[in-house]
Amino acid sequence: NKQVILKHYVSGFPKESDMNIIDSTITLKLPQASNDVLLLKNLYLSCDPYMRNLMNSPENCFYRRNYSPQSPIAGCGVSKVVESGHKDYKEGDLVWGFTNWEEYSLIPAAQILFKIEHTDVPLSYYTGILGMPGMTAYAGFFEVGSPKKGENVFVSAASGAVGQLVGQFAKLHGCYVVGSAGSKEKVDMLKNKFGYDEAINYKEEHDLNAALKRYFPEGIDIYFENVGGKTLDAVLLNMKLHGRIPVCGMISQYNLTQPEGVTNLAHIIYKRIRMQGFTVANYYHLYTKFLEFVLPHIREGRVVYVEDIAEGLEKGPAALVGIFSGRNVGKQVVVVARE
Ligand code: NDP
Repeated sequence: NKQVILKHYVSGFPKESDMNIIDSTITLKLPQASNDVLLLKNLYLSCDPYMRNLMNSPENCFYRRNYSPQSPIAGCGVSKVVESGHKDYKEGDLVWGFTNWEEYSLIPAAQILFKIEHTDVPLSYYTGILGMPGMTAYAGFFEVGSPKKGENVFVSAASGAVGQLVGQFAKLHGCYVVGSAGSKEKVDMLKNKFGYDEAINYKEEHDLNAALKRYFPEGIDIYFENVGGKTLDAVLLNMKLHGRIPVCGMISQYNLTQPEGVTNLAHIIYKRIRMQGFTVANYYHLYTKFLEFVLPHIREGRVVYVEDIAEGLEKGPAALVGIFSGRNVGKQVVVVARE
């Protein structure tokens, strides 16, 4: 059973060498006395920015349980049930939820988020558009952002797992949408693939404030916040009265030992902005409604999804650390097995 092991707690930017690939010889068996454990074969693993925080030592981890050194890291994934100790699952079921970064896992059924019912779309989509990032984009934009037709929307990390969907959902909703991303390839993708009206390469644009003024002469109604730091500072200067900022993430801050300050926060008062943090975990009750919304758009080609696929668990550590330098183009997925 090949596994991706965290070698030690991480401080600063994560490196591929913070993880190890080992081949465990322990044979996994369902515990006899238990009635809630599943033996899973892991198929697709999701690389997500929150996983960086789980690499911290316990006192610096914001989530309930950080990774333990010398144990496999974990995250969202798509798996097949090999053996079930739980009445709701049977051999052969496809599921998505929290699993370990290894070929096979013993997982309490409570860690499964959903059974996969629709298989006419790529299974890997359940790590992205039909999984946690998709739900995040949907809940963050529609529930937290309260968008109205014709509003001006700005999205950062706009070509990523979440961002590419926020842009497309905003266009479907009749908004004017501008995104920012970190390379020419990504900026081209924003306009030509996802239908953004305009796109900013934030690495080339030395004056982000001026760039935002260029694209939003009347200001921004909704800023879908994925990066924080300097981008947030420039956006605050360009928000409209009663603008909204759904705060999804602040990836530019996750690896800094000394987070950057934001200097323009007072604009929240002047512009009467609603800035609201949210986590997807509070919105899974909307999952069925979300599928009813998004599946027809996928099937009929109105919403597209770009994935960056790393083949093999061995490629996992490089793929995971790559999202913190923007090496991924689209949703970063690791394929462990295809069936
Ligand atoms: P992505 O697929 O967008 O990958 C991360 C991207 O972030 C990179 O590709 C890179 O793109 C960009 N990035 C990395 N470092 C920086 C930096 N220093 N400054 C600006 N951009 C940077 O990830 P996701 O779509 O999965 O996640 C996007 C955000 O959403 C993250 O902040 C994440 O934490 C958050 N999130 C929050 C959830 C919630 O429940 N609140 C759930 C899921 C995600 P580029 O080349 O453009 O720089």
